Amino acid sequence: MERASELGADSHSMWHQLAGPVRYSRRPMHPPAKDQSTDFSELDERTLVARAQEGEEKAIAELLSRYQGRIYRFGMRMCSGREDAEDVLQETLLAMARSIRTFRGASSLSTWLYSIARSQCIKKRARERRNVDVALGVNAPGARSAAEDDSPLPDQVVSDAEIGNILNHAISSLDDGQREVLVLRDVEGLSAGEVADVVGVSVDAVKSRLHRARLAVRERVAPHLAEFRTPAPREAACPDVLMLFSRHQEGEISADLCAEMEKHLETCAGCRDACGSLQKTLALCHASTAPHVPDALQESVRHSLREILLQK
Ligand SMILES: [Zn+2]
Repeated sequence: MERASELGADSHSMWHQLAGPVRYSRRPMHPPAKDQSTDFSELDERTLVARAQEGEEKAIAELLSRYQGRIYRFGMRMCSGREDAEDVLQETLLAMARSIRTFRGASSLSTWLYSIARSQCIKKRARERRNVDVALGVNAPGARSAAEDDSPLPDQVVSDAEIGNILNHAISSLDDGQREVLVLRDVEGLSAGEVADVVGVSVDAVKSRLHRARLAVRERVAPHLAEFRTPAPREAACPDVLMLFSRHQEGEISADLCAEMEKHLETCAGCRDACGSLQKTLALCHASTAPHVPDALQESVRHSLREILLQK
């Protein structure tokens, strides 16, 4: 087991591994659908949208297979349960089918879909809050806090699956504003600009929420990461290296400050551990897989789409 603090020679690569703005790759969530004549999985998004706008069912099916897993995962993160996430997925994809012919492509399709899904989630949460308020007769705190109590103690050895649960709890305990930017940026892999479009705030506001969210999630996850469970101590004079590391990943740090940080990391094991645990936390966010969309739900969405397409 390697501890980051013992990897002195690695400190350069740690700071620079994700140099500049992070560009997450867009991963397909399901094996692409095959077609005898045209391989729709090979078509770029613009072409697919154009063919879907003409009512070509296979183009719609391909768009579905590209996006349903991502939208479902987003719904699971932003709503309080599987059932709500299923509703959000269904509503979002049906909205896509209803509006695909008028989609002008001013934003990317994913930005458009996440925007629809986001407003569905907001409606769900508002309804849920009203119900809780009525049931308790008070302004109840979020229903999520109970789940956090299951977390293992920091010094317990945890499996990968448990780390996944700890990460989920950490993300779900963020407030809505921080959670949506972290999920869109670090789980779904949108750029900060795209997140700003989806959420309807400035890029600066996105970044400021994002940094706070990342630090809060790291705080909860780090004590459970084997290699960072007992981090080397940091000095009172150490720079705010976590915030700087997060900002570095969004390309917000000048070359001079970057060089300064690199120099500090060479001599400070505590800050190396801190950065390493943040880097690992973000890697876990990025690696989170899309949940399988239940077959019955997939079938029901496909059925509704067919009906919408036939109405033309
Ligand atoms: Zn330090």
